[in-house]
Amino acid sequence: MDRDIGEELVALEQVQRVVLSSCQPLGLVEIGLSDALGYVLAEDLHAAEDLPAFSNTAMDGYAVRADDTINAPVELSVIGVIAAGTAPTRAVEPGTAVQIMTGAPIPPGADAIAIVERTEPGSSPGRVRILDRVSSGAYVRAAGSDLRRGDLVAAAGTVVCPGHVSLLASVDASRITVHARPRVGVLSTGDELVSGTVPLELGQIRDSNRQGLLAALQRDGFIGIDLGVRRDDMDAISAGLREGIERCDALLTSGGVSMGEFDFVKVALQALVAESGGQAYQFKVAIKPAKPLSYAAVVRPDGRSIPVFGLPGNPVSSMVSYQVVALPALRKLAGHRSPLSRRIPAVAADDFERRPDGKLHLLRVVAAMGADGRIIIRSAGQQGSHQLAALAAANALALIPDGVGVTTGSDVQILLTGTLE
Ligand code: AMP
Ligand code: MG
Repeated sequence: MDRDIGEELVALEQVQRVVLSSCQPLGLVEIGLSDALGYVLAEDLHAAEDLPAFSNTAMDGYAVRADDTINAPVELSVIGVIAAGTAPTRAVEPGTAVQIMTGAPIPPGADAIAIVERTEPGSSPGRVRILDRVSSGAYVRAAGSDLRRGDLVAAAGTVVCPGHVSLLASVDASRITVHARPRVGVLSTGDELVSGTVPLELGQIRDSNRQGLLAALQRDGFIGIDLGVRRDDMDAISAGLREGIERCDALLTSGGVSMGEFDFVKVALQALVAESGGQAYQFKVAIKPAKPLSYAAVVRPDGRSIPVFGLPGNPVSSMVSYQVVALPALRKLAGHRSPLSRRIPAVAADDFERRPDGKLHLLRVVAAMGADGRIIIRSAGQQGSHQLAALAAANALALIPDGVGVTTGSDVQILLTGTLE
């Protein structure tokens, strides 16, 4: 079915709602921990064993009976040494101690560690002088003090970070079930585009959107598939879209979605949906840059619905549109439970003037920590939708609501697109 939302500007939030509601998390795959970073867990994971599995020492020193140290300094007889990885062979009886290294199991009878820094050699070989009284449990890491068998290690929906990999490895969760990582095709359209190191003829430009979008996909943990450039020709673009839909879980195209004579992407998408099923939308998103957006959920012969984002051609617009519309949808495919980027409060360190036009302006800005601990933002440079220099310099998009803009010192919401300086 074809649905035209009309000539009206549509709020970004509404576009996000329409797009997100047509996307579903990809199927499940089982992977090894070494590949797990960035995947989203598809099921709750419970500890199969206690962590730590046995009580052990947090410090190098002597395993003692705390009661023996009540009158410290005291001398104890050293009856053995336990290194990490070794099981104790003797129990600690009253008046004795076992020398012990970090991570080694606490021997039976002992209930505390006297750290080596607070000991001295005893009055004769084989004896140690414990300088301080130690309390029961001192420097002992009890079995199960991190996780108990059966405890929740990580909930479904968790995005695996290095800490989770460590934790999962500790409890021998060596294979985990996650949502598949989206394979995302990237296709550029335009007769003016050239790729490769060739001199430009008048009217030609270098295809930058494809490279930029592939890099964004890589940053965001998706698998980018380079589908090349297609001419402004209905058949060429239709063939490119078909190939992408067949090979990928989602598709990004750039160019050919506005009002130009040769803007075939939206028409090709509508034709594809009419033929295969699904839904096609042509949005005028109430944002600047990146107003035009073609979006279709195209049903494939295998029944899967493939989201296709017909992003605008202007280089800044294609990236901004990716950031605010495509990225949340791709995150949803990857299994993220909260796919929208968080809006973060910041303070304007420049005046950001604008005119009322019914749109939310997304300015390329540099966000940094201010002296008072709040995030401050400055313009990253010229804000035209063809001006990539500011996009490159920016680490955030500032959301300037419709109106006359904001002055220095005003509160502004931002979306981080890079790391905070
Ligand atoms: P379009 O949306 O096709 O009308 O393109 C809008 C503007 O973006 C034009 O100036 C195009 O030359 C430019 N453009 C389109 N595709 C690309 C691309 N892949 N890389 C760089 N610029 C592009
Ligand atoms: Mg074009």
